[in-house]
Amino acid sequence: MNIWDRENECMPRSRLAALQLERLRHTVRYVYEKVPYYKEAFDKIGFRPQHLQKIEDLANLPFLTKDDLRDYYPFGLFAAPRREIVRLHASSGTTGRPVVVGYTRRDMENWTELTARMVTLAGVTSEDTAQIAFNYGLFTGGFGLHYGLERVGAAVIPASGGNTARQLMLIRDFAATVLIATPGYALYLGEEAEKQGIDPAHWQLRLGLFGSEPWSEEMRTEIEKRLRITATDNYGLTEMMGPGVSGECHCRAGMHIAEDHFIVETIDPETGSVLPPGEEGELVFTSLTKEAFPVIRFRTKDISRLYPEPCACGRTTARMRRISGRTDDMLIIRGVNVFPSQIESVLINSEGIAPYYRIDVHRRGALDELEISVELASSDLLEPYFQLEELSAAIQRNIYATLALNAKIRLVQPGSLERTTGKAQRVFDHRRRG
Ligand code: ADP
Ligand code: ZN
Repeated sequence: MNIWDRENECMPRSRLAALQLERLRHTVRYVYEKVPYYKEAFDKIGFRPQHLQKIEDLANLPFLTKDDLRDYYPFGLFAAPRREIVRLHASSGTTGRPVVVGYTRRDMENWTELTARMVTLAGVTSEDTAQIAFNYGLFTGGFGLHYGLERVGAAVIPASGGNTARQLMLIRDFAATVLIATPGYALYLGEEAEKQGIDPAHWQLRLGLFGSEPWSEEMRTEIEKRLRITATDNYGLTEMMGPGVSGECHCRAGMHIAEDHFIVETIDPETGSVLPPGEEGELVFTSLTKEAFPVIRFRTKDISRLYPEPCACGRTTARMRRISGRTDDMLIIRGVNVFPSQIESVLINSEGIAPYYRIDVHRRGALDELEISVELASSDLLEPYFQLEELSAAIQRNIYATLALNAKIRLVQPGSLERTTGKAQRVFDHRRRG
């Protein structure tokens, strides 16, 4: 088993804490001097950079939210002058103005090192041929992994997203051993292969690095079965740099966070107070080495929990559990909090259906109505009506048993729900908010 950067990934936690403090003090001074937004925000609460004496003092600083970032579109939060920026990326901006981030040469070097670290965590070596089915473009996924894989010495196939027939051809003809994609797209590739009578057992593919959207453990099992690979979870976000923030090792005990470059806190999403390690909450990130786009206490809206104890793999960096969902995606239905991933877990465990679904929430009068459309695994089931009845009743029971919610189940034709090559949208909340 390889460790890419043993010195930084395995250092004693006391040394790591000292390194974090030193870098945090630098970052706080740096943003105070270079970014008017932070100066104003710190001045408002009477905070001076020299007040930061210990890591816990970070909790006194204000949060940075996605909305704040949008207000400073495009370059308002950059700390480095234009001539030092060598790359720009942006998040998708589906809900308004995109968030634009920049990188200096040193930021690019750190990003490359961290993605190299992450792909090594997953088990990639210089022997591998890695097909990147993430989009290349403003989205950080494609380019981010590209540089890291290259640094490790893997042969990169920059397939980019989409064109499923060609993806399958490349996996076979170029003998790809590693696939990089969203979990949803990986599943779709498996489905298409099956449709075309291709047996993944004949491929060289052995490992998948998946991320960029929440997925369940059941989905992982399904992907592994269909593609006959080991599937790993990898997390990143544009605001922190992109992929490379954390990734899973072979122990499958959460994703190791690059703590020498980031401090992560978990907070109560309602009150904003910091939670003790190990408790579930929203992740808040602070960058420690970034030059172009340093970030203090960014609220991710991602729900997880941290495991600070050392891992059996020998690394000492803390791990974060698989993201259960984003606070934005959490549905409150008749007072019950539900994450789409919980519904996904139930569906994938049900017999006779394919792992494609869509969730619609309506309000009828004063009542919320949850409707789950899910595909039948095979059109043979379309025939006997009583079987369909039985199937949807079984799913309904399982949803009730897990979530205490009555849902309406719509069984739909195989292949009728939308497939995406990027991030999937599965939840449609039609209730008026306000
Ligand atoms: P956008 O979606 O706005 O374009 P990003 O591409 O930066 O922005 O997406 C980052 C977000 O994607 C994270 O905050 C998280 O919600 C989600 N994400 C990334 N990786 C994972 C993962 N492995 N598991 C769950 N969610 C993930
Ligand atoms: Zn580990």
